[in-house]
Amino acid sequence: MKLQGKVALVTGAASGIGRAIAEQLAEEGASIVIADIQDKAGEEVAAANRDKGHKAEFIRFDVTDAASIEAGFAETAKRLGPVTILVNNAGIAKAAPFGKTDLAFWDLMIKIDLTGPFLCMKAAIPGMLAAGFGRIVNIASTAGQTGYPYCAAYCAAKHGLVGMSRSLAREYAAKPLTVNCVCPGYADTPIVESAIANIVAKTGRSREDALAELVAHNPQRRLIKPQEVADAVTWLCLPGSASVTGQNIGVAGGEMM
Ligand code: NAD
Repeated sequence: MKLQGKVALVTGAASGIGRAIAEQLAEEGASIVIADIQDKAGEEVAAANRDKGHKAEFIRFDVTDAASIEAGFAETAKRLGPVTILVNNAGIAKAAPFGKTDLAFWDLMIKIDLTGPFLCMKAAIPGMLAAGFGRIVNIASTAGQTGYPYCAAYCAAKHGLVGMSRSLAREYAAKPLTVNCVCPGYADTPIVESAIANIVAKTGRSREDALAELVAHNPQRRLIKPQEVADAVTWLCLPGSASVTGQNIGVAGGEMM
């Protein structure tokens, strides 16, 4: 219970990787905020954690909307206390050939996957500095470390997130605040299920073939479990990880070295 007394806000925690992260932080004693646009699923995740004896709240939170973010942080402070752990996990991962990547597609990807974390960090950092403790973990991707075809907008957003995190890690290095990225490979979540469905619909190939193509990137030839990502995030949030900042921790079966 090394995170007892800390308040952790996890964006996109109603599903997939974010849900696993929030649950793991709660297991370490943190009070958790499920910050998501999905009301029903978010309430269910919060209730399931309360049933286990954790302090957990769902707060509706749209990372594309600065007013919603401000309101979400204020509501968190009222219900649980100031946020000292922020996990920027909310994201979308749509693929398209570059020729079909129009400005609307580009803007949406950047808005959710890059501007969202920017706005959440702007909202969180003053409170962390005042509290004398801060941990920010940004869920980037192996797409933040290398290029993949048909993913220009997603790769741009995730590379941007990695760069912004490195810059902030240096800027706040003299403060009790760390900023790191965790970079998963293809993981077993609804985002990847819809990527597989997309490949099947567009190419007529079987689900098994589509899955095999995705896991071919990973030397372990498997999807990453959300829990494996959550374990890396939790370790970065522990008080003992104070000297780990500006890092990209790959959770990708050795895909990136
Ligand atoms: P997911 O679709 O299961 O969950 C994403 C969550 O984000 C959903 O609950 C969704 O409601 C929420 N969300 C979307 N837009 C939002 C907004 N505007 N405001 C607040 N919440 C919003 O996806 P996942 O696979 O768990 O992905 C989580 C993160 O991990 C993403 O940033 C994704 O890019 C990253 N990632 C995923 C994989 C993978 O293979 N699944 C690999 C690398 C990185």
